[in-house]
Amino acid sequence: MNFSLFTKKASGYECLGPSTVAEATSFSNSCDLALWKAAKYKPPTDDKFLAQWRIKHTAVLNDLALNLKNKYPSSELDLELPLQSINLCGMKLFGTPDLIRKNPEGKIFIYDAKSGKKRDWHLVQIGLYAILLQGAARAAGKRMPTIEGFGLYYSNGSKSYESLDDNPGYIAIEGDDALNKVLPDPIRQKIKDVLTIAGQSDIPKAKPSSNNCRFCKFKDGCTEAYKGTNNEVIDSSDLLLSK
Ligand code: SF4
Repeated sequence: MNFSLFTKKASGYECLGPSTVAEATSFSNSCDLALWKAAKYKPPTDDKFLAQWRIKHTAVLNDLALNLKNKYPSSELDLELPLQSINLCGMKLFGTPDLIRKNPEGKIFIYDAKSGKKRDWHLVQIGLYAILLQGAARAAGKRMPTIEGFGLYYSNGSKSYESLDDNPGYIAIEGDDALNKVLPDPIRQKIKDVLTIAGQSDIPKAKPSSNNCRFCKFKDGCTEAYKGTNNEVIDSSDLLLSK
């Protein structure tokens, strides 16, 4: 592994964001080495891609904020509020939810604006923002906020919707049990496993595969990366012949 291509995070600042943890709970990249590296190193950045993403994301977030303001005029909205880091299962977790809405009763709703494809782990990501919010409040000696709902707002950013419900890419999960719905017990267990692997001192074993390595941010410089195979696709049609 050529670690010199990556910037090492300073000692004591090894950390993960909710999106990385959430993605690792899904099956989109099951490589423990990629997760471990994400906790300890910064991958090379693509500034052009980031600038384009930022424009789209800001457009979607503004559309979401406008529609929430229209639907809930008595609520307070906080956009891109960095939350205090917390320690979770031996790893430092930090994050900035796109939008937090507080209703007049003080109940909290957490939203994320998404300009890319729908992913099954996006709900886990916003669930982790709730854990961050509650953990930070408790650490500061404040009452833990009641989380009453979550929303994901998908759009390509090229148009404004008339209302939240006008956007077919709007998903809301609300009610007393909302947090358990986005973070059911098996997912909570998987989060603990993910954080334990990320925080271990030994380098974990790589799991190279076409699926894992294709979009891995640490692919350049990874000697374990999947190189493809020259195996021909074997014809097995004879297995369907009746005996
Ligand atoms: S390139 Fe592949 S093997 Fe290397 S860290 Fe990424 S997912 Fe793992």
